[in-house]
Formats: sequence, structure tokens, C-alpha cells
Amino acid sequence: MVRQQALIEHQQALSECRLCPKMIPPVILGPPVVAKILLVGQAPGIREGELARPFAWTAGKTLFKWLQTIGMDEVSVRQQVYISAVCRCFPGKKPKGGDRVPDKTEIAHCAQWLNREIELLQPVLIIPVGKLAIQQFLSLSKLVEVIGQQFRQDINGVATVIIPLPHPSGASTWHQMAPGKTLLKQALSLIQQQPAWQKLVSDIA
Ligand code: SF4
Repeated sequence: MVRQQALIEHQQALSECRLCPKMIPPVILGPPVVAKILLVGQAPGIREGELARPFAWTAGKTLFKWLQTIGMDEVSVRQQVYISAVCRCFPGKKPKGGDRVPDKTEIAHCAQWLNREIELLQPVLIIPVGKLAIQQFLSLSKLVEVIGQQFRQDINGVATVIIPLPHPSGASTWHQMAPGKTLLKQALSLIQQQPAWQKLVSDIA
């Protein structure tokens, strides 16, 4: 109850954050779920603002389709998993199309919010989605170095398992071709084997 209240207060402060001048509000947040599983996206796209939730558009459809194959549909994931991100505001478009990648300062600004969520939730499983999110936890140059594997890290004194996923964006074909397709399946299978994930799946059965 105390953590729930702290999480609500955290989100209230976060929703008012305007630290990054180039970022376009609103701040996109999921529900304040006191969860042991933390999913970390990159940054919202242009549609998330009007729909007021993370992973609300095409990338989200693909992500939730992946997660459904291991036992949880979109509604259940949103209700049971805390959805966070590297940056919470829409970064805007690049001049030649596609979303602008948040810069180092913006990532550092928003990391304080992510760190506070980790401190409050003490997650046993973290699922970073996409290279930018994965880089906040693991060092890598290519996705093949980490997708399909799990990594143990002590975060705030909690033994945490990190299982990265590729970004489900339609603009990326990585997860649709070899070896990405196979590595994605391995990563989903690893998530499915996690006790925290199995507990959620059994709770909704
Ligand atoms: S991206 Fe994060 S730190 Fe920057 S203004 Fe939005 S909420 Fe604040």
C-alpha cells in the first residue's frame, strides 16, 4: 500500500516533467502497477500522445502479439506488468522521416525517473525492448549479442534477471529474418520460464 502510494506520487511528478526542451509532451505513462516485472520501452511515438498509453500503436500490437504467445494478452500485460521507458515524451520526427532518437542529455534526464521506478518496484525481471532500452542495462553493439539470452544483475540489492527483446517496430525486419526470428523465440521462451512470469500467467488463468 505504501509502495502503491509512492508509485502514484512518482507518476504525478513525472507527468508534470518538462526537463527536455526538444521533447514533445504529454508524458506517456502506463498504470501505477506494483509489479515485479518491469518492461522498458524506448520512447513513445506520435500516436501514443493522443491514445495516452505506451505501446499504443503498431509496435505495441506486435509486442503484445509476441507476449500473447507465452500466455498473457495485452489487457493482462497492461494490468500486471509495469511499463516504463528510456524517455517518456515523444522526441519528434527526424527531418528525413522516422522518429528522432533521444540524445544523451534527454536519456540522462529521464533515467532519474526510471531509476526511481526500479527503486520502488525492485523488479525481479526486467524486459528492455529495443537497442536503446537494452543499452541502459547491458553493453552491446549488435542485437545478436544479447537477444535470446538472460543476464543476472544485482540492482538495488535485488537479484534481477534481464531478458532483452528486439524492438517490435514495423520499420525493423531484424525480428522477422534469421537469426533474429529464432533469437526472438528463444528470448520469449526464457521469459516464459521465469517464475515471476509464470505466477502472473497462473493468476489470470
Ligand atoms: S523525456 Fe523524460 S525527462 Fe525529458 S521531459 Fe519527458 S519525462 Fe521529463
